[in-house]
Amino acid sequence: MNTTLAPIAPTAALFPVIERVETMLVDLPTIRPHKLSVATMTGQTLMLVKVHCSDGTVGIGEGTTIGGLAYGGESPESMKLAIDTYFAPVMVGEDATHVKALMARIGKAIKENRFAKSAVETALLDAHGKRLGLPISELLGGALRKRLAVAWTLASGDTAKDIAEAEKMLELRRHRIFKLKIGARPLKDDIAHVAAIKKALGERGAVRVDVNMAWSEFEAAYGMAALADAGCELVEQPVASTAALGHLVRRFPLALMADESLTGPESAFEIAKTKGADVFAVKIEQSGGLFNAQRVAVIADAAGIELYGGTMLEGGVGTVASAHVFSTFAKLQWGTELFGPLLLTEEILATPLDYSDFELTVPDAPGLGIELDEDRLKFFARDGLRKTISVAK
Ligand SMILES: [Mg+2]
Repeated sequence: MNTTLAPIAPTAALFPVIERVETMLVDLPTIRPHKLSVATMTGQTLMLVKVHCSDGTVGIGEGTTIGGLAYGGESPESMKLAIDTYFAPVMVGEDATHVKALMARIGKAIKENRFAKSAVETALLDAHGKRLGLPISELLGGALRKRLAVAWTLASGDTAKDIAEAEKMLELRRHRIFKLKIGARPLKDDIAHVAAIKKALGERGAVRVDVNMAWSEFEAAYGMAALADAGCELVEQPVASTAALGHLVRRFPLALMADESLTGPESAFEIAKTKGADVFAVKIEQSGGLFNAQRVAVIADAAGIELYGGTMLEGGVGTVASAHVFSTFAKLQWGTELFGPLLLTEEILATPLDYSDFELTVPDAPGLGIELDEDRLKFFARDGLRKTISVAK
């Protein structure tokens, strides 16, 4: 009797495998200049990735940054290059159904590149969800909420324009939480700007600010006291260093949120150890993917730090990927800022997302639960039809 049977182990051939990885850059205008302390954005570039699998499923993912390289070390162009040159060879031919295993394989071969990893992981989960007939939130453990509160960012750079924009959002019942981008102007001018907007809105709208690391620790101490007096309820990343954040926390009667300091579970753990922030702005790209964003949320929760769903001003694909993740958080005390698609003049989804009654509905169709408008993408793709037409002129 032959006792040396071959081990029964699944081989890649039994599973759908990844056949091809496709990337593209899409340049879209914004509805108005978006002024931040680090950059003024007049457009947004989406890096879209499609993962084609042998069973015919195609998963979509997205990577964006805020102001090209003004925010961090990755750009849409660098993500495309990294995926085309380094990710794709690691992925092609591999089992498409074990997403964590494949992401671990990618992690071994490729250091850093958190934003590109988030885009690829999104595409793998979208494909797998479509394959199983389940929304991504189900693959991540299941949604605790189907609707997410969405803040709007006032960043025209002009107080009167910002107040008019906030009034319009209240009237449309689209947003009642307003985040003001400050830090580019002298501190006293910024405080006067925030105070005027809060005074105009009163109890009808919550006012928060994001300084995007522009202040020194001394400026932040002065600024946070004045912001609290003005009725501002939260300040986001006023200073660059995590240590300075820790010195400022709980000294003033408004919440302090960490954003740029959070670069994944390890940094989240470092801040949580000293409770160096009141709130974490969790972003799938900053965290290095959807699973990592969940890990950041668990660390925060365990440390008694509250949660907020952040954005890298993603278009429809990245926004929905984030929405699926945030819907699974045990707590989401500060809502989200998933307004990215609303800042763009062009809709790239076949069916626009449902923003109504101050909230966004998390899609419940398989995968991300969205479909791309391929004709629009072809038009707005870099080197696509729009360019061809304008060159022909
Ligand atoms: Mg921020």
